[in-house]
Amino acid sequence: MAKDIIINDDIIKQGERKHIHLEIARLYDSTEMSLDIEVTRGKEDGPVLFLSAAAHGDEINGTEIIRRILASQSLNDIKGTVIAVPIVNAYGFNTKSRYLPDRRDLNRCFPGSSEGSLAARLADVFIRDVVDQSTHGIDFHTGAINRTNWPQIRACLDDTEVSKMAKDFAAPVILNEQLREGSLREYCYNNNVPIILFEGGEALRFQKNAIQSGFDGTLRVMAGLGMIDPSALPVPETNPQYLKNNYWVRAPQSGILITKKQLGESVEKNDVLGVITNAFGQYSVDITASNAGVIIGATTSPLLNQGDAAYHIAQRE
Ligand SMILES: [Zn+2]
Repeated sequence: MAKDIIINDDIIKQGERKHIHLEIARLYDSTEMSLDIEVTRGKEDGPVLFLSAAAHGDEINGTEIIRRILASQSLNDIKGTVIAVPIVNAYGFNTKSRYLPDRRDLNRCFPGSSEGSLAARLADVFIRDVVDQSTHGIDFHTGAINRTNWPQIRACLDDTEVSKMAKDFAAPVILNEQLREGSLREYCYNNNVPIILFEGGEALRFQKNAIQSGFDGTLRVMAGLGMIDPSALPVPETNPQYLKNNYWVRAPQSGILITKKQLGESVEKNDVLGVITNAFGQYSVDITASNAGVIIGATTSPLLNQGDAAYHIAQRE
């Protein structure tokens, strides 16, 4: 007999699909801050996979990826359960902000506490009602405002189940990245819930390639876990590149960036990535790669101050 899934006294039985609305807090004017969850349980027992997006409220490509998964035929006949949370930080989503009302970053507040700050309370509900009932997870992110990311999985690859999920997802890049204190990935790692983090595109935008990569990858992970039939799934266009040691190349001078390299391009040490000039072309300063690697992220703004992050590069494993 499969274990019950219970969220806020609501029992979701095998073969059921339920929408659950949880009130987290009230804002100054009594506006409700809520967490909405949709649980889909197949008739047969299997893994419990959570899908979460917009923990950083302005990172909305993942919200669209989960919306498409929820609308997909694939969900009609699954083994196991999908717990979908397309908007974890509803406050940030509504205000187009990465943060919570107390200006905290939710992804540094896990596991949270029922008596802590607003961010800690939201983290606590998310952990108890979603993560602690799951066997696996995928968390969706994008670059920050004015930064875009090549579709990539970030994961701690020393865990074999995590490593398998990353490989099955088959995004163009798999970045072996250590855990940050207070992050959802750290909590999951310490509590044996294999999790991968998807990064793709830019905050406050829908980017077709990132959304497609996230959607296809999620279905491939579900197939890898035995939750859906793999035969109808699209084959990945390329094998993922395994990367590590990511670093940002910063603008050596303020000015206007004329970019020479695109996301996903391979670069050699000392390659010119872009040139900083001014509106009259009175100077020209090269931005160069300090190591060989692949461009996994970049600024989308041509206006840079000295020290602003311009290109995010990771080295091959
Ligand atoms: Zn994020």
